[in-house]
Amino acid sequence: MRRLGVMGGTFDPIHHGHLVAASEVQSKFDLDEVIFVPTGQPWQKSQREVAAAEDRYLMTVIATASNPRFSVSRVDIDRDGPTYTADTLRDLADRYPEDKLFFITGADALEQIVSWKRVDELFDRAHFIGVTRPGYQLDGHHLPEGAVSLIEVPAMAISSTACRDRVCAGEPVWYLVPDGVVQYISKRGLYRC
Ligand code: ATP
Ligand code: MG
Repeated sequence: MRRLGVMGGTFDPIHHGHLVAASEVQSKFDLDEVIFVPTGQPWQKSQREVAAAEDRYLMTVIATASNPRFSVSRVDIDRDGPTYTADTLRDLADRYPEDKLFFITGADALEQIVSWKRVDELFDRAHFIGVTRPGYQLDGHHLPEGAVSLIEVPAMAISSTACRDRVCAGEPVWYLVPDGVVQYISKRGLYRC
């Protein structure tokens, strides 16, 4: 039985906050692998324009390629319709029936879990790991006893929203996102206003 981390996100774009969180959880929970899963159509973000799934997927591949314990899955981008984490975990459990899943989530997302679709299913399929994120309180009291572990990770006050806003304003995103992602954003002309 392997221990597999699952890092879900829009990754629009992926940044060092995501990568440090995944790396820290991998080490503290002795995970064999962390699978990054870019969302298809994120249902909470339907108001705003999200970069093409293929661009977000490729940026995630570029950012994770050098880490032997990181991989990227297409399960969510290849499924039609809005992405629900219950479907993500079901598909991954079908694919890796022998393995134990750990779903990694930042403090802001953890707060909202109770509003996610088919919430009871989530905790049957994976153990949840909530990580600290600057600007949010990490608190799991609203979640079932024993379903969630909370851990502190190095504080990275970075969000994808801030990265997009910076590109739009002509400000640099060097060192907020991996070098290859800076170059990919520029090459594809993403996030220009
Ligand atoms: P956006 O601003 O577009 O919402 P984001 O930076 O929040 O982007 P997401 O793709 O929404 O990134 O987040 C994916 C997961 O990573 C979520 O669980 C989120 O809480 C977590 N996360 C994002 N940024 C950080 C960070 N700086 N530190 C810790 N966790 C983070
Ligand atoms: Mg977010």
